[in-house]
Amino acid sequence: MQQEATSPPPSEETILTVAAIAAPSATEPLVRTTIERRDLGPRDVLIEISYAGICHSDIHTVRGEWGGVTYPLTVGHEIVGRVAQIGAEVTRHAVGDRVGVGCMVNSCRECENCRAGQEQYCLGGNIGTYAGTDRDGTITQGGYSTHIVVDEDFVLRIPEAIPYEAAAPLLCAGITTYSPLAHWNAGPGKKVAVVGMGGLGHMAVKIAAATGAEVTVLSQTLGKKDDGLRFGAEHYYATSDPATFEALANTFDLIVNTVSAPLDINAYLGLLRLDGTLVSVGAPPEPLPVKVFALFGNRRSFAGSGIGGIAETQQMLDFCAERGIAPEVEIIGADAVNEAYERVLASDVRYRFVIDIDSLR
Ligand code: NAP
Ligand code: ZN
Ligand code: ZN
Repeated sequence: MQQEATSPPPSEETILTVAAIAAPSATEPLVRTTIERRDLGPRDVLIEISYAGICHSDIHTVRGEWGGVTYPLTVGHEIVGRVAQIGAEVTRHAVGDRVGVGCMVNSCRECENCRAGQEQYCLGGNIGTYAGTDRDGTITQGGYSTHIVVDEDFVLRIPEAIPYEAAAPLLCAGITTYSPLAHWNAGPGKKVAVVGMGGLGHMAVKIAAATGAEVTVLSQTLGKKDDGLRFGAEHYYATSDPATFEALANTFDLIVNTVSAPLDINAYLGLLRLDGTLVSVGAPPEPLPVKVFALFGNRRSFAGSGIGGIAETQQMLDFCAERGIAPEVEIIGADAVNEAYERVLASDVRYRFVIDIDSLR
């Protein structure tokens, strides 16, 4: 592929100090700064980042809700950009390619799970795109920055059919919902409910509908009903109305819970039909107490799922390109990130904020 005329590749002297947005601590607003990127190794790809999505996990992480992290920290694991430079041994990507990076940038590649293409479940722990400990001992820094250096095996191809400015959220919200929908066989004849219609939830609705499943949204209110139906849901209920839980008892084969806060999980388990599964991808720091009696009826299962493997992420991108599925995004500049965080926390997001990284240059 030809190199596209974005901005010229950085010079050798400046290549590794790049503009970024970072959290100075758990309680302060994010600020503009610079961060270091490692020298390009033989199997590395230097990506000039164009867009970075804002995932609720970014907020949980920078605010220390999932445990302590090292500050300053640059988050962002929904990354889309163009290849600016490649190492001598890189074969999968060429300068100018549209590429993406999701939630992990490496894994051991040797354990049972890595060999099965489930690098997200690497037994040694995958190396997270941010707040992870890289092989050289440095703390990884994420995509709210102008460039990133990533091993070529953890770089995805972004199909041309996906609008460039909308692609970033697929790298986390897309794969995190695609993977459980695929694993629990969402498809024709299956009734799937999606709890919470934010960044992950709206992708779950679109992807589940594309599989042919009958999709129901369970949102706090009916405020986003028109959008839910437009994304492919057939039914839309407010969970603030107790009648919802009576009307939908024993209904679903699969419930995908995308909610970032604790829920009365037992009430939702009651909505599963025989052999149904409730899978939580939402990641509140608090435990979700489960009554075993809620599982006995209908032989129900309560499960979790974390992002997806690299091959499956590519499969998801190709699936979305073929089916014309793209996230709904609100593009913002670098200086609007703190305000966007507050809107995500208030469930006031339609449906993913994406930072235009050109505003950082
Ligand atoms: P988001 O855009 O904020 O969406 C969460 C949605 O949950 C909101 O839009 C809202 O939907 C609902 N919600 C929020 N607070 C609620 C409450 N107190 N009670 C009931 N419903 C509530 O967040 P996101 O980026 O989609 O992420 C969702 C969760 O998934 C986060 O915890 C994130 O860390 C986690 N996550 C997990 C993985 C994984 O690998 N498992 C990957 C990415 C993200 P309604 O307005 O429709 O009610
Ligand atoms: Zn995420
Ligand atoms: Zn491994």
